[in-house]
Amino acid sequence: MIPISVVKLDEAAEQLAVEVIRSGMLAQGPMVARLERDFADVVGVEHAVAVNNGTTALVAALEVLDLQPGDEVVTSPFTFVATLNAILEAGATARFADIREDDFCLDAAALGAAIGPRTKVVMPVHLYGQPADMGAIVPLVERHGLGLVEDTAQSLGATVDGRGAGSFGLGTFSLYATKNLTTGEGGMITTNDAALADRLRVLRNQGMRQRYQYEVAGHNYRLTDLQAALGIPQLAAYGDNVKRRKDNAARLCAGLADVPGLRLPTELPGRSHVWHQYTVLVTDAAPVTRDEVITRLTERGIGCGIYYPKTVYDYDCYREHPRVVADPAPVADRVARQCLSLPVHHHLSDSDLDQVIEGVRAAVGA
Ligand SMILES: *Cc1c(COP(=O)(O)O)cnc(C)c1O
Repeated sequence: MIPISVVKLDEAAEQLAVEVIRSGMLAQGPMVARLERDFADVVGVEHAVAVNNGTTALVAALEVLDLQPGDEVVTSPFTFVATLNAILEAGATARFADIREDDFCLDAAALGAAIGPRTKVVMPVHLYGQPADMGAIVPLVERHGLGLVEDTAQSLGATVDGRGAGSFGLGTFSLYATKNLTTGEGGMITTNDAALADRLRVLRNQGMRQRYQYEVAGHNYRLTDLQAALGIPQLAAYGDNVKRRKDNAARLCAGLADVPGLRLPTELPGRSHVWHQYTVLVTDAAPVTRDEVITRLTERGIGCGIYYPKTVYDYDCYREHPRVVADPAPVADRVARQCLSLPVHHHLSDSDLDQVIEGVRAAVGA
């Protein structure tokens, strides 16, 4: 079986975890501070604030932008449900602009059309490891004087014109088990704004600046040192692991280039892709359906996944929700029907990759 994601921690992580256990101080402490410093360096920002998961990172980022009831956040309809749930938890109204087929991220033209008088924040999702079209999105955000929260859960280390995804506005990250870098559960918020970083640190710790000095109604969003210890060595190795993912993606692209009806992912000019997922589209021109491909791959023991099977609001629990506006998104609807993610992670061997390529070719009948 070739799984779509694998977690393997090395001895360095073990040793740091043992250090924390022996210290007797398991909650937020010096390991979290170290992880934050290293994380800020990888993203290329001044400040990183660790929290307990990627969803709370999004909620906290929205909260420090002081959203009022009725304020709208425009995001991508093609994302993990946490993006939408965070908007709702922060008390805002969710609106959507369609995506581009070539990067699976917000389409700047659609975004421009979706921005209205109640829009307060734009929330691009850097999906699968490829950053959104920030060269076009940031000027729109600035022209309208909006907040910018980047859902970078899947794209640590990705860049646009050399700038880190998550460094344009408030960046939010997830360290969940399946992400490129993981502490089991965990999250991070990045910013170059010292005042926002300070507010985020207070907010994650019950709104407390010093013992029993409460400044805002806060949360317990703290990460633990035991978790941070697992992330520190992974950050040191992160560049190498991304390189391996890039090589794996190139190998998959070469091996699948001539498969009929399959649209392969590309790294767009000026953007560095960190290949959280390698996602193809099984288009209508393919001789088989996407779901047939999945059945055949599964029979061969090749892990694959659908991220995501529907647009994020296309569920009964959101259909009647007063703060979810299901703006139409035909590209996202089609991509959700056609997308298929294949293993690309950094633990794959050359022989694994050959098997994935052979498996896909056989499944599509190429
Ligand atoms: C994983 C993920 C999140 C949420 O992160 P958690 O750590 O699971 O809370 C948010 N957005 C996207 C796009 C994700 O992939």
